[in-house]
Parts: sequence; structure tokens; C-alpha cells
Amino acid sequence: MSIIREVKEESRREMLKRISAHSHIRGLGLDEKGEPLPVADGLVGQIEARRAAGIVVRMIKEGRLAGRGILFVGPPGSGKTALAIAIARELGEDTPFVMINGAELYSAEVKKTEILMRAVRRAIGVRFKEIRRVYEGVVKDIKFALTSHPFNPYVKVPRAARITLATKDEEKTLEVDESIAMQLAQHGIRRGDMISIDADTGEVFKLGRVKGIEKAKYFDVESTRVFEEMPKGKIFKEKEIIRTVTLHDLDEAYAAQRRAVFSIIGGLLEEREIDPEIRKNVDELVRKHLSEGKVTLVPGVLFIDDVHMLDIESFSFLSRVLESEFSPIVIMATNRGMTKIRGTDIESPHGIPLDLLDRLLIIPVRPYTPDEMREIIMIRSDEEDVKLSKDAIEALVKIASERSLRYAVQLMHPAKIIADRKGRDEVRAEDVEEAAKLFMDVSLSIEFAKKWESKFLK
Ligand code: ATP
Repeated sequence: MSIIREVKEESRREMLKRISAHSHIRGLGLDEKGEPLPVADGLVGQIEARRAAGIVVRMIKEGRLAGRGILFVGPPGSGKTALAIAIARELGEDTPFVMINGAELYSAEVKKTEILMRAVRRAIGVRFKEIRRVYEGVVKDIKFALTSHPFNPYVKVPRAARITLATKDEEKTLEVDESIAMQLAQHGIRRGDMISIDADTGEVFKLGRVKGIEKAKYFDVESTRVFEEMPKGKIFKEKEIIRTVTLHDLDEAYAAQRRAVFSIIGGLLEEREIDPEIRKNVDELVRKHLSEGKVTLVPGVLFIDDVHMLDIESFSFLSRVLESEFSPIVIMATNRGMTKIRGTDIESPHGIPLDLLDRLLIIPVRPYTPDEMREIIMIRSDEEDVKLSKDAIEALVKIASERSLRYAVQLMHPAKIIADRKGRDEVRAEDVEEAAKLFMDVSLSIEFAKKWESKFLK
């Protein structure tokens, strides 16, 4: 599976940014019986919804959710996203989580179904064993061959390196090229470091330091893992690593590979859309490896917020997804009651067609009490390393109740910077208030924009 190496990390990084607001959530916080603990795994309150979510997790694990989905109904900022992430976390560390908002589908450049399809394929993982060939050992000696920097003759940069690695059983000297030598220099590799060099990609990893190889004068114990003794075994070895990539990663890798083949027209093929043929090929490949037991499927969570924004065409696409062979766990959320299904004149609960609604387990999510908001704000301040005074906490709870919890949480960092400028470590209520004056929440910014709309350039 050499195509694995082509994986683009872009999409995943983007995702991580978006879910980092929920980085404190590690699971649903249930006890062995599936009962929610008041505050656990980073989750606060929402007891009923968490109990329901716990049952959903169990159904997923027993394979009883196939063909069906989940719908969270509740006001904005009541923790629907937080709960969806908690469900994904419960399903395992490498379970993909993908979040889209119904409104995102209406992009000018990309078709709605393509955006949905991409999200679906990002939410399905393929787990496999990868054999990595590495050189691993403790550095006994390292020498660089230097050359002048191409743009600055006064600066010397490594052109190559000769490095001797040792284990208890073996010693090997390697001559490495410029790219590896550069990495060795950048990592500051020296005698006594335990390192690993990927034999195929040439990537260098610093694993730690071994005690006793060299009297360490400036031994940075805090950031370096310390090995008590020399490692055993061969220096060159094959290591088995479990990896998970998504179907979308594979689609992109395949597309990139094809672009490389047709490199002359490659520029033109820089795709907004992935050719269905590519997806078919990827599916076939995955199916083949599945039947041979080489890979396992890891269905992840596709979370669609503001699902009432989907139109009839998107809903039928989703219904098909629920029935298909490779399907993620679809969790939707809405704060609408009876409303028209977009693209039709039909009114339906939550703006969702009845045939789809029939297949959803609906979980109500209630607004938070001030006590719960306080608890969440405190967890978040811990996570973000923001020290809050008592009155600052109360100021944020007030903002959370009057505006939104999300807004209150987002004000924490600006308030920290304001406090910092005043030479304080701790954020006080006045800093929070100042931050709230500088930054608006969405409902205010809409009002503001409306007022000035006629004067804005159209
Ligand atoms: P919704 O999806 O219903 O709009 P949300 O999950 O996006 O809500 P936010 O209002 O964005 O919630 O939440 C603000 C912050 O509070 C986020 O960091 C979120 O992780 C956290 N949060 C929300 N609900 C809980 C909860 N029950 N326990 C712990 N943290 C929570």
C-alpha cells in the first residue's frame, strides 16, 4: 500500500483547529453501569442526554445502529457538539470525528453532494498495520561534513553526516545524505541520544537520551525521555505500526497519484471534486483488503450541525449514506421545531423529511444552569491555562447566561492578554468586561452589521 504515504494532512489540521475548543472532552463520563457522573471526562451536567448517548455508544459497539442516525434537539450552545465529540471519544482514540454545519453546503464552487460526500469519507477510518524499516540506536559518535550556505557563505550547513549507532548487541556506522544530516542538526542530536531514522522516508525521530553514555552537563531531563539502559537488539529492524487513515485520505492520495501520471495536464486536474471513478477504485481496494483481513474499518462520527439547513436533495443523499456499505455514524443537531424542508413547501419536524426522521433516535438537550456553566468555564480555563479570579469567573458566568457559553469561553484568552498587559498573571472581572467591549458575540455583530449595511460596500 505505497499510496499511503501521499496523505495530505491539510484537512485533518483544519479539523483539529475546529474541534480544539472541545479538547477537554475525553468521553461521556459514565460509570461502569452507564450512569453519568456529574462531572467526568471533561463533561458537565446534561445527565439525561449523556445517559442516552451512553446507550447509543453501546448500540454502535453491538452493531445495532446500522441504517439509523442520531438527532440532538436543543438550543444553541447547549453542548450538542460537545456530546457528539464525547461519543466519538468513547468509540476509541482513532475514531474519526468530522463536523460540518448545514450552511456550509451552499458554497459557490463545490456541489452540495460533493461537500457531503467528502465529509462522509473523512468520517470513515481504515486501520492497518504498516511495516516501518528503521535504524534505531544510541548515538555513539556523530560527525558532520559542512558546506557553505548557498546564499550566505559565512554560514556553514551540513552536507552529509557520519553517525555511529549502538545497541547492547550491535554497532553500526551510517553515512547519511544532506536531508538527514540537516534533520540531525536541527534536532541537536549528540552523543547519548537515542534516535530512529526511517529507512524509507529518511525521517529522523529523537526518542530520548540514555543514561550514562556521557556525563550530561546540560541534561534537559524535563523535556527528554530518559532511558535507564542501552536498548537491546538489532539496529536495523522492521517495526509494526498501527495506523488509521480515512477514505478521504485514500481518495486524495489516489487522485494525487493519478495527477502525477498525467502530469502534463496535472495542473488542470487540480480538483475541486474527486472523480467518482477514484472513489470506486478506493472502495474496491479497501473491500479487497478487508476480505483479506489486512485492514479493519473504523466508522467515525459525522456531526451535522444546523441540519435544518439541508435541502431535500442533501437529505436523500444522507439517507443513501445511512444505507451504504461504508457508512459513518451520523449525528445531527438542530434547534428548530416545525419548519419547511428546504427546497420544498412541506413542513416537517425540524425541517427533516419524515422517512429520514423515522430512522433517527432523538435526544433532547437542555440549556445549562448557571452552576453548570461555571463548572464548564472553570474546566476550560484550566485547559487553556488562564488563571481567573473569583469575580472574573462570575463575570464570565453572567456573560454566558446573557449571551452564550461559547462567547464567554472565547473571551477568556483576550481577557488574559489584557491582564498580561497590565502586568498581571490573574484575569480579573475588569479584564473580562474590557474584552467583552472589544469583541462582540454573533447576535450583536449581526445587529451591528445591519445598522451599517447600507454603508458597506456591496
Ligand atoms: P451546541 O453544539 O449545542 O451549539 P457546543 O457543544 O458547541 O453547543 P458551545 O456553546 O460551543 O457548545 O460550548 C462552549 C464550550 O463549552 C466548548 O468548549 C464546549 O466544549 C464546552 N462545553 C459545552 N457543553 C459542555 C459540557 N456539557 N461539559 C463540558 N464542556 C462543555
